Amino acid sequence: MAIFAPTASPQADLRLNCTATIAVPKKKKFLEGRLENCLFCKIAAGQLPAYKIYEDADILAFLDLHPIREGHALVIPKEHHVWFEDLPPALATQMTTCAQQIARAMKQVYQVERVAMFYTGIHVPHAHAHVVPMHHVHDVTSAAYLREGPDSFTTPPQIPAETMAEVAALLRRTL
Ligand SMILES: [Zn+2]
Repeated sequence: MAIFAPTASPQADLRLNCTATIAVPKKKKFLEGRLENCLFCKIAAGQLPAYKIYEDADILAFLDLHPIREGHALVIPKEHHVWFEDLPPALATQMTTCAQQIARAMKQVYQVERVAMFYTGIHVPHAHAHVVPMHHVHDVTSAAYLREGPDSFTTPPQIPAETMAEVAALLRRTL
C-alpha cells in the first residue's frame, strides 16, 4: 500500500524564494545526517513521494497527510535531527523563513487572520514544523480535546488525493 501519493509538479517549479535572505553553506552533510528507517529522511531523499510545496538543498515543505485544516503543511530539514532545539541556528532560521512565506501564502489562499506554526516532536522523530491556516482559535488546541479530555484525540482524516495535489499546487503558486 502506497502511503504517499506522488507530487504533482516537477522539482523545477519548487525553486522558490524561501531562503533568499539566508546565507546557506555550500556543502551540507545531508547523507551523513540521514537515517535508514526515518520516514521524513526517506521523503527528503525522494524515496517516498509527498505533496511538495517547497524544496531546496537543505529543507523541504510538504502537506501533512492528516491535515487539521486543508493546506496544513510540514517544514522539515533534510538532515536528520530529532528535536527542533538541536537544529543548527541557520537551519532553524531557514525553516522559519520558509514557514513565514507559507503562512503569507495561506493567508492569501484561505483568507484567514492567523496561521499557526509549531513543533510538537510527536509521531515522527525527525524535527518538523507544522504550519496550519487557522479558521478557528482552537484549531491547534483541538476543540474535542478541550471538551472531552486528552483521550478523545484522534488523528484528523485524510482528504482525497486530488484535493491534496490541488492544494499543494495552489500554495506553491502563491508562495
Ligand atoms: Zn530523519
